[in-house]
This record gives sequence, structure tokens and C-alpha cells, in this order.
Amino acid sequence: MPRVVEQIQRAELWHRNTFLATATAAGTGWTYARHPTEIKRPADGRAPFVKEITCPTCGDRLRFRVHSVASTRRRQRLFRALAWTSLGLIVAGVGGVVAMWTTDSFNGVLLFLGLTAIVVGLGAGPSLGSMAADDMGITGHGASNPGAVKHPLQVTEPERPGD
Ligand SMILES: [Zn+2]
Repeated sequence: MPRVVEQIQRAELWHRNTFLATATAAGTGWTYARHPTEIKRPADGRAPFVKEITCPTCGDRLRFRVHSVASTRRRQRLFRALAWTSLGLIVAGVGGVVAMWTTDSFNGVLLFLGLTAIVVGLGAGPSLGSMAADDMGITGHGASNPGAVKHPLQVTEPERPGD
């Protein structure tokens, strides 16, 4: 679900408590210490800047690159377009290979291009789709990556009136 991109972004800096996954109430996984923070984005049209946050748990000084609201939305559109392009490559590659197969018109160059399109699409598509879904214009230390990074920065939904 898309999250709200705001000028003043509420977020949490997470500190992974253990290196290895451990048993938790929800199954095997990692536990995190969560530290609320607030990040003010640059104005639209301004260059991204680096915000340094010190982790209250371990004292590590972390530097995140913060993009403006407009730049973040452009990044999300770009990643979505690239993810759809990857899907298009897969469809075109499979279609081309199937067309050659069914019409018995073998062409080595077209077969190579079709298989290459399939491999590139399958290789890049999932990562680009994940980036399109997760990128919030705050990068660094794996903030946009799925998985158990040590210091993910999680954007939190703003509180709605009445919450
Ligand atoms: Zn830490």
C-alpha cells in the first residue's frame, strides 16, 4: 500500500537487536528497538541533502539522503515504469520465443534476444517492483531495501484526526 509522502515525514529509526534471527512470538525473525524521528524534506526543486541521525541504541551515526516530495514521487514513478518495462520484456520475450516455436521459423538472433529479454525481465523486475513499492525518498543504510538490515528507516503513516 502506498504510504503518504510529506514535507515533514514522520519515521522510525529501527535498530536490529540481534545479528541472527531468533524465535519471536510471531515466529522466527528479528526484533528491533524503534526510535521515532521526524525528517524535514528539502523544498521541491531543491537538491537532496544528507541528514545524520545517531542511533540511540548503539550510538552509530547514520547518514541518510533525503529527497523532496516531488523528487520522491518522480523516483517512485521511475521505478514503477522500469518495473512495468521489465514485465513488458518478459511478455515480449516469451511471445517471441513462442511465435518462433509455433511457426517453426527459427532465427538464432531473435531467439537470443527473446531469451535475453526474459532473463533481464525476470532478473530486474522483482527488484524494481520492490523499489517502486518501498522507496520513500530517504535512502541509505538499506532504508529502501527489503530484508533485515541493521538500521532500516521506516516511514510511518501520519496520524489522522481522531486517532
Ligand atoms: Zn543502532
